[in-house]
Amino acid sequence: MHNLEEQYSQFGISKEVLDFSKEILASLEERFRQIDETAEINQLKVIGAMQKCKVSEACLSGTTGYGYNDLGRDTLEQVYATLFHTEDALVRPQITCGTHALALALMSNLRPGDELLSPVGKPYDTLEEVIGIRPSKGSLREYGISYKQVDLLEDGSFDYENIRKAINEKTKLVTIQRSKGYQTRPTLSVTKIGELISFIKNIKPDIICMVDNCYGEFVETIEPTDVGADMVVGSLIKNPGGGLAPIGGYIAGKKECVENAAYRLTSPGLGKEVGASLGVMSSFYQGLFLAPTVTASALKGAIFAANIFEKIGFHVIPNSTESRHDIIQAVTFGKPEGVIAFCQGIQAAASVDSFVTPEPWDMPGYDSQVIMAAGAFVSGSSIELSADGPIKPPYAVYFQGGLTWPHAKLGILKALQNLVDQKVVSSDFKRL
Ligand SMILES: *Cc1c(COP(=O)(O)O)cnc(C)c1O
Repeated sequence: MHNLEEQYSQFGISKEVLDFSKEILASLEERFRQIDETAEINQLKVIGAMQKCKVSEACLSGTTGYGYNDLGRDTLEQVYATLFHTEDALVRPQITCGTHALALALMSNLRPGDELLSPVGKPYDTLEEVIGIRPSKGSLREYGISYKQVDLLEDGSFDYENIRKAINEKTKLVTIQRSKGYQTRPTLSVTKIGELISFIKNIKPDIICMVDNCYGEFVETIEPTDVGADMVVGSLIKNPGGGLAPIGGYIAGKKECVENAAYRLTSPGLGKEVGASLGVMSSFYQGLFLAPTVTASALKGAIFAANIFEKIGFHVIPNSTESRHDIIQAVTFGKPEGVIAFCQGIQAAASVDSFVTPEPWDMPGYDSQVIMAAGAFVSGSSIELSADGPIKPPYAVYFQGGLTWPHAKLGILKALQNLVDQKVVSSDFKRL
């Protein structure tokens, strides 16, 4: 019979790499136990919400055409609202991705003359064009919606003094990005987000506080809407889709915010009433059902990678011992070769497209070349094992996902083996 070592050797992973990883894994038992406990709590939350909303077999089939009275769609939106403790939710295959969900939430809740504030620094790259930070057709800026930004302080904390100064009579909506995205700042915990929201609401109670929740769902046992957020927004091809949703985004929050978004997504007058769910409902439901344990697998992968690459001498964010608030792991290689070798290693561990070699390319929405490793069942899905890195200093790679822990582990070992083979890491596991 095949033992583990033989199996890994079939994938080109040496005994040395495997032994190095074993040592690290032994030190992570307690953290993995805590992750499993979070997954257990969130699994019960999901099942509880589905039971409370009376999800039935009929919900799993879809509608066509206008999609009036789509039981599955309407019930799923109730499930999301129940799970996030919000008044309402919009969960649709017609929301094409996370950027679309965020753009929708912003464009539908802001009017000409309003101002948008980001009190947590620069938002995710693709939002720069939505907001108009980089000139773009159809941006908020073109519609007369202005934007202010307050960066985080050097130590990653909120710059309360300047946030207070930035809030004015025009400030209508505050966008708070939970995850660090393509930055090397810390990811915000839900508790910290709650503190920021309280501070803002104290200054101006009617400001809409929106949280870009991408990559954060189910990492903790509470969500931003539990600490005062008016809206949470995310992508179904990340955590809450559990790897099964083939498309989609969600907005959960105050009734009025969700209503505004629905009228913008479809049409004034139609709102949530139309939008056939076609055949995706069972994957939305089943994906949400799996999401807590899938997120846990991804988290284990992230922590395993942090510990491996920190030990070798690379700067990793979050570091090996820090508490986790999203599934992204950044590893700073300091040179393009490291980013490329890492991504090619992740790709080589995939079930789909393992034989292709990713290369840096000019990806739409990004201001530098980007390399992406994604051998995914759902194209571009980043809850599946994936890695990407902009080819610009500090040459950091952003690694995330893994539908199962063994796959995440294989990907990381393969990336490490690749780095050793390409001489970015020495054979005694030191940074070169
Ligand atoms: C992924 C992501 C987005 C954009 O989502 P897409 O599905 O890639 O359009 C926005 N914000 C954050 C923090 C993200 O991680």
